Amino acid sequence: MENKARTVLLLLSALFAGAAGAAAPPAANPDWTAPQAPFKIYGNTYYVGSKGLTSLLITSEFGHVLLDGGLPENARQIAANIQALGFKLNEVKAILNSHAHRDHAGGIAELQRLTGAPVYVRRPSEAVLRTGKLVANDPQFGTKGADFPPAQTVWIVSDEQWLGVGSNRLQAFATAGHTPGGTTWTWEACEGTKCLHLVYADSLSPVSAKPFKFTASKAYPEALADFEQAFQRLEALPCDVLITPHPEASGFFERIAQRDAGKPETLKAEGGCKAYAQAARAKLAERVASEK
Ligand SMILES: [Zn+2]
Repeated sequence: MENKARTVLLLLSALFAGAAGAAAPPAANPDWTAPQAPFKIYGNTYYVGSKGLTSLLITSEFGHVLLDGGLPENARQIAANIQALGFKLNEVKAILNSHAHRDHAGGIAELQRLTGAPVYVRRPSEAVLRTGKLVANDPQFGTKGADFPPAQTVWIVSDEQWLGVGSNRLQAFATAGHTPGGTTWTWEACEGTKCLHLVYADSLSPVSAKPFKFTASKAYPEALADFEQAFQRLEALPCDVLITPHPEASGFFERIAQRDAGKPETLKAEGGCKAYAQAARAKLAERVASEK
């Protein structure tokens, strides 16, 4: 395919992924379920998700952390990816979630069954994980096909809380707006003496079910304030390697390809978390204007 045509196609598919999001039936984007061979991102942090939905494994001698479970139909694939890297499922000691939508939390119940690990989320996500149903204050509440299998053991972490799992320490940051429980997770990964700040920054897209207004929701009146807090948070975080639940939202696979082509510095996203937050702020401003 000619380069220009390919660029347009990529752009179109990115737009489609962004715009359709969870508002369409999940299988609408074939990348979301397309298999992806697992690989090392940096140090003890591995990509174990599908082509279009991120799941991460952070390993240690004393237990691993799994971040996000993709769609329900992705769970087996994620488990197989963990094993393909040489790790055991029963060594996963905690499952964390970015936000409680079907495309990132749908596979968690099955992964919990396979690993025996408890789930840790912020309070607004807890009921969603436990019931598999969106709560009325979720901007996408009422979307058809949004339910997913409920998880069993779900513990609550608070904003800025540290979570120690094995020899890793991760910190949770409230970055809500896309959902009321949206959470960004950060940790350090090292290769030799070189340690990097990894940031799994949650989705910040103002996507909603039809009747929802970010400017005037009785169910979620804090939506705009939450978004602004999330932007400021991300702008302030130490952020060497940005990773996002939808990899294309931060050009992740392009960066990995460049890195693998012998340019290790490209693992760091240009502008990093700041650029990600600023782009999201602009998108929200557009959405707010359209609601008037
Ligand atoms: Zn979502």
